[in-house]
Amino acid sequence: MNIRVALDPAFNDEYMSAAHQAHFKRVLYNWRRQLLEEVAGAASQMANSAANDADPVDRASQAEELQVAVRTQDRRRRLIDKIDSSIGSLDSKDYGYCEACGVEIGIQRLHARPTATQCFDCKSLEEQKERQVHG
Ligand SMILES: [Zn+2]
Repeated sequence: MNIRVALDPAFNDEYMSAAHQAHFKRVLYNWRRQLLEEVAGAASQMANSAANDADPVDRASQAEELQVAVRTQDRRRRLIDKIDSSIGSLDSKDYGYCEACGVEIGIQRLHARPTATQCFDCKSLEEQKERQVHG
């Protein structure tokens, strides 16, 4: 997708202008709502399949499916937490600036990853450190 089109007419505004903030707030809230719907849908699906009185073979594969579903739910909830903290940083005007070094994260990077809290350099450095720790 063309970022200029996606952000138009705010693209040429000053970084994190009111229009930029409104744009990302909208993106984050939409994403959050979508995830909440997924969480609710998956939760009722899990409740339904748990209520089914299946034979032992079905139950074993159901247990596996349930494990996958639980992990997916965890991922969604962690993402919702990230989105919440991004929305919080929009409110406190910290959004869009690297939490490690304070530089602008950049519209393009935020567009690709609206929950980004670090600039590309700091994130790369962190990932390098993580690789060294975990092998
Ligand atoms: Zn940085």
